[in-house]
Formats: sequence, C-alpha cells, structure tokens
Amino acid sequence: MADYAALKKGGFMRQKQKNNFSLRIRVVGGHLDAKQLAKVAEVSEKYGEGYVHLTSRQGVEIPFIKLDQIDEVKAALAEGDVVPGVCGPRVRTITACQGSAICPSGCIDTYALAEELDERYFGRELPHKFKFGVTGCQNNCLKAEENDVGIKGGIKVAWQEEKCIQCGVCVKACREGAITLEDGKISVDSSKCNFCGRCTKACPTDAYDNTHGYIVSFGGIFGNHINKGKTVIPFIEDHEKLLKVCDAAINFFEKNANAGERLKFTIDRVGEDKFNKEILEAYENE
Ligand code: SF4
Ligand code: SF4
Ligand code: SF4
Repeated sequence: MADYAALKKGGFMRQKQKNNFSLRIRVVGGHLDAKQLAKVAEVSEKYGEGYVHLTSRQGVEIPFIKLDQIDEVKAALAEGDVVPGVCGPRVRTITACQGSAICPSGCIDTYALAEELDERYFGRELPHKFKFGVTGCQNNCLKAEENDVGIKGGIKVAWQEEKCIQCGVCVKACREGAITLEDGKISVDSSKCNFCGRCTKACPTDAYDNTHGYIVSFGGIFGNHINKGKTVIPFIEDHEKLLKVCDAAINFFEKNANAGERLKFTIDRVGEDKFNKEILEAYENE
C-alpha cells in the first residue's frame, strides 16, 4: 500500500485516476531557468501525458506520473536541477512578482527576498498550510494580502527643497492625494501616503530621498473562506526586522494553531491583541 501522506509531502498528489499522481515542482518566486523548463518538458513527455499545469501560485505540476515510476521521475528531474515541491501542512512555495530587478514600478528585489524566505522556511512542518507571497509595489500584481504572510515593497519619501523645481509632476502622480504644492513648497501628508513611490519615480530632479521597505500583512486566506491580511506595522525599513516579524508570525502559528487551522483563524481564536503584541515585540526587540 502506497504511503499517500509521504508522497503528498514530497509533492506527488493523488489523482482521481488510480495510481496516477500530479507532481508539483519546487518553484521559487515564479522563476525557472531554461534548463529546468527543458527537463520538465522532457519528463512530462516521457512519464506524463506531455503537458504541465500552471497553478494559481506559480507552481508547475506534471500530471499522470505513475506510482511505480516515481523514483525514476525524481532522478530524471534531478538531472535538470528540478526538485519536487511540497503539499500538506507546511510552508508552501514562496511566490513573487518580478519586482525591481525587472519591473520599473518595483520598490524591492522580490526574487532575492523569495529565495531568502525559501531558504529560511520552505517545507517547515506546521499545523496547517502556510503561504508567503512577495509583491514589488502597491500595484500588488501578486496579491500579497491573500497570503498568511504577504510582503509588499514600498518607498518612504522625504522631499528635499533644494532640488525641487516646483513642476508639480509629483502632485499629479500621487493617487492618494497626499502631496500638495503651495508657495513653492511640497508637503506630504503621511496619513494619506501608502508608500507607493510614484512621486519619487516621476520626479525629474530626484528631489525625494527614498527609503525602501516592506508593508507586511498577516492572516490572508483565499479559499473556502476569504480574508484580506492586515498590517500590524505600517512600514518596515529594516531587513532584519522584516525577518524577525516573519519569524514571530510563524512561531505564533506553530505554538497556537490547531491542526487544520489557518493563521487567520488562530489569530481570531487566540486574540488579535496577543498576536499583534508578539509581532510588535519582535519588531522592537534589538
Ligand atoms: S507588483 Fe509592482 S513590482 Fe511587482 S510586477 Fe506588479 S507593478 Fe511590477
Ligand atoms: S509615495 Fe505614493 S502615496 Fe506617498 S506621497 Fe508619493 S505618490 Fe503619494
Ligand atoms: S516632481 Fe520633483 S521637482 Fe517637481 S514638484 Fe515634485 S518634488 Fe518638485
């Protein structure tokens, strides 16, 4: 009798067709190189039915792998530096948009961060699935708040009078109505600013100082129940502090969650105040 739980943990998901498995590949931040893609294509032709399925979370799955060929498939994939992903109650694929390495709107290097989070958390055993998503800016192509922990890039701006030519471009660029230009002076209403960075990217004279950082949301879920993740700290500038709050969220989940319970419901049951307190303590702790 096959150990279906072990197979699922290793990325082989049972199909409705007996003895057939859909194999989930490990993809980090939506990135696969040409060598990996060629090997996936070869394996899908040789061992599957010659196609792959692209999942909603940037996964690649090869359906119709036969039970008695699983070891052979793993060995074949390894030749192309392709490894199976995971399923079940653990940290899942870290997803990311292309971010600042490619996209002009990007405020952070999403792929580098996805790789770092993958290294730190991928496959960690937990009471239920746990999803990270990284998106490069407020355009939110990756829909950060759908994830248990969603990370969004942002820029905190500071106007520098001496460089400003009072052209008004940034006032028009700001979709939040946070910038006013009066008597030759710019003022930014921090209560309206969402750290999108549009003003500084539009400014022709680089008259804004930029601090790049992260907007982190917790408790997102997008399945049978839908909930948009919420932020606890409006803007995190420090990379180490980002990792500390991620650690705090995952540790809170590990310590408090019931089996089969997503982070959102653990927070609801244990108390949002308690969760927020642990996140703030991690953030403030030097
Ligand atoms: S979220 Fe922003 S950085 Fe990422 S792809 Fe979309 S526009 Fe580009
Ligand atoms: S960062 Fe975005 S929201 Fe903030 S002032 Fe600039 S354009 Fe407006
Ligand atoms: S876009 Fe730059 S130069 Fe123009 S008003 Fe704004 S800060 Fe000044």
